[in-house]
Amino acid sequence: MSSFPEFRTDGRWIRSQRGIKAPVDPKIPYGYFNELERTSTGAIEEVSTILLTNRECPYTCLMCDLWKHTTDEPVPSGVIPAQIEYALSRLPVASLLKLYNSGSFFDPNAIPVEDYPATASLAGRFDSLLVESHTAFLGKHCLDFKNLLTPGLQVAIGLETVHPEVLERLNKQMTLDDFKRGVDFLGEQGISTRAFILLRPPFLSEEEGVEWACRSIDFAFQAGVEVCSVIPVRAGNGAMDALATGGFFQEPSLSSLEQVLEYGIGLGKGNVFADLWDLERFSRCDKCKEVRRSRLEKMNLYQELLPLVAYGCK
Ligand code: SF4
Ligand SMILES: [Zn+2]
Repeated sequence: MSSFPEFRTDGRWIRSQRGIKAPVDPKIPYGYFNELERTSTGAIEEVSTILLTNRECPYTCLMCDLWKHTTDEPVPSGVIPAQIEYALSRLPVASLLKLYNSGSFFDPNAIPVEDYPATASLAGRFDSLLVESHTAFLGKHCLDFKNLLTPGLQVAIGLETVHPEVLERLNKQMTLDDFKRGVDFLGEQGISTRAFILLRPPFLSEEEGVEWACRSIDFAFQAGVEVCSVIPVRAGNGAMDALATGGFFQEPSLSSLEQVLEYGIGLGKGNVFADLWDLERFSRCDKCKEVRRSRLEKMNLYQELLPLVAYGCK
């Protein structure tokens, strides 16, 4: 059964639980790397991901830890293209580009609108570009940016969960109707959508976490998204740790991530990926964690259900 605390998990409470931010340099992105990803055509392509250093997202979601690598003030015009150039000059060639800015790309206080032409020009060497946005920022800025781009555009939106009471308590300030409208808006402009889906947000048992992640994948594909990315929820942002101490949150197990990925791929509605970053923390057994990671990596790439090998452990 879901259980909820007496107090409100609102922005004020969430902020009150935070520790200190990491030091960041606005001249450089706080992360950049290449990896492989399967595209909607089934090809496996090299992807460059750049984690842009910029102002904190104006939303304060309960599970979010992206504020840790943000500036206190909006970054001046010119800084974002410079960060992209910095990363691209150090990364191998790729065909897809992901620009993650710890918030919404179309928030003009995060990515200055004046930087759209230079950013679009830098993205011009790629076949497609992925950026992230809260539904509230999907509007004119999104269209202005799209009109400058030559690569195809995909926008990632955090659907998080379709559990109504949990979604409300995540402080996302987005309804399922908002999500659906956002996907429709993007689709009408020829922009595809990726949904971020949480595995076991707070207030849910392990079984409920799996069930609601699967239901959220169903909802996302019905709404018209092209790709679902399943993110196991982690502690570490203060609020989640406080909820864990109070018995309202526990990180999901590796086995639950396996179940949800199997479900999503089995639907055959579109690519479903498991977020494998820091996967070790979800494993409860040292003997099998590497072989299980390798299976999930292959399932992400090939979108096939692979057998669970007998690990000789439980
Ligand atoms: S909208 Fe996204 S970036 Fe902003 S606080 Fe929520 S999860 Fe974090
Ligand atoms: Zn094991």
